[in-house]
Amino acid sequence: MNKFDVFTSHKCQYYCKRLEVTVPDIIFREKEYNLFNEYLKQLYKDRYVPIKVDGTLRGASSLAQETIFINLDSEEHKTYDDVEETLIHELVHYTKPSYKHYTKRFQECCKKLKQGRVKNGRFF
Ligand SMILES: [Zn+2]
Repeated sequence: MNKFDVFTSHKCQYYCKRLEVTVPDIIFREKEYNLFNEYLKQLYKDRYVPIKVDGTLRGASSLAQETIFINLDSEEHKTYDDVEETLIHELVHYTKPSYKHYTKRFQECCKKLKQGRVKNGRFF
């Protein structure tokens, strides 16, 4: 873990509390994220359906609880602001899985989450 990873964990807990959602597990290196996805596919075979949208993996399996992971590789980021921006983006994927990447309503949610405009799990 480096200083950005610690920051990411801390911020993730903060935002998830505001969103009133379970804190997802974070996988910090992209290589590990891809390896773990492969492992789950082999473990659950056709009973595992991974839905991977950039850094957010939502795996549905009949054998296990739904698995949700966020990948945020801080080695690909240069500043705390940069890391936080990506985290917010992934948390919107996590809480609004039907919202498409970079649409206006998706971007609105990112902005609102950053500004703390979230109450009872809803954006306002
Ligand atoms: Zn995205």
